[in-house]
Amino acid sequence: MPPSPYVSRINQIDAQQLDHEIYEIFRTQSKQITKDVRPGIIDKWQPEIDVFIKFLIWFYSLRKGDATFGQQLLNLKYNGINQRKAIIHFLLANLPRYIQERVIDSQYIIISRDKKLKNYFEWTANIIRIIELVNLILFLHRGTQPNLIERLLGISSQSSITNRPRNIGYSYMTRELLWHGLIELFTIGLPMVNFYYIKQKWNQLWMKTRGERKIVNIRPLLDLMTNCPHCYQRPILPRHAGCRHIFCYYCLQAYFTATDTFPCPECGTNLHSCNMLSV
Ligand SMILES: [Zn+2]
Ligand SMILES: [Zn+2]
Repeated sequence: MPPSPYVSRINQIDAQQLDHEIYEIFRTQSKQITKDVRPGIIDKWQPEIDVFIKFLIWFYSLRKGDATFGQQLLNLKYNGINQRKAIIHFLLANLPRYIQERVIDSQYIIISRDKKLKNYFEWTANIIRIIELVNLILFLHRGTQPNLIERLLGISSQSSITNRPRNIGYSYMTRELLWHGLIELFTIGLPMVNFYYIKQKWNQLWMKTRGERKIVNIRPLLDLMTNCPHCYQRPILPRHAGCRHIFCYYCLQAYFTATDTFPCPECGTNLHSCNMLSV
């Protein structure tokens, strides 16, 4: 059975994505190797190193065969590619980026005095971006040549094996989705749960409260020995709420924000938010 000419759009985009990932792996490795070198020495040659990595990848994929590594992983190959087109493919894919990094963005070669040249480069880059966008729309419409270079060279992806349906591990994807959903549920839902209130109610179930609601008629005295029963510090903005203990305003208000009524940590008297008074 001859290979089917049809290749799905998603496979073509994935092949490009895989090519990029492979390049990134090598680039990260090269950065790892040179991380102990004094800063500035290697950075100066970063555009050249990037091009060299791309050259190596190109040399062992397109130069020797008819498919990039990303395409090979997805059983694709270029239809109608030859040595000459492979070399042009490499130049077109890397030269403009190299020029941009070396000439436009570089701090080492300053061409700011030549504003005209810089403007010219920037305009060219913008025009290329617009053409790439048009190419993308054409690709979505026709389903071939997602890359502008492929269209210029007249090459397109083709399946290298008998066309098989795309095989995706959906079980893995579903598991990922479920995990993400669960994490989102926790991060959004958990802050809404009033754990302090639940703890209070739980404690009330098991422990007999030692005191009952009283009408406030005592005026606790603030002296040098008075400490807040919550933070054990000198009460700041002292408040009380029905027992002889004096809290900081913030400590007490924090309790009342969580729950309307709570037992004093020292004496166990039930304190109510409506009884909060200043000392
Ligand atoms: Zn306090
Ligand atoms: Zn108390």
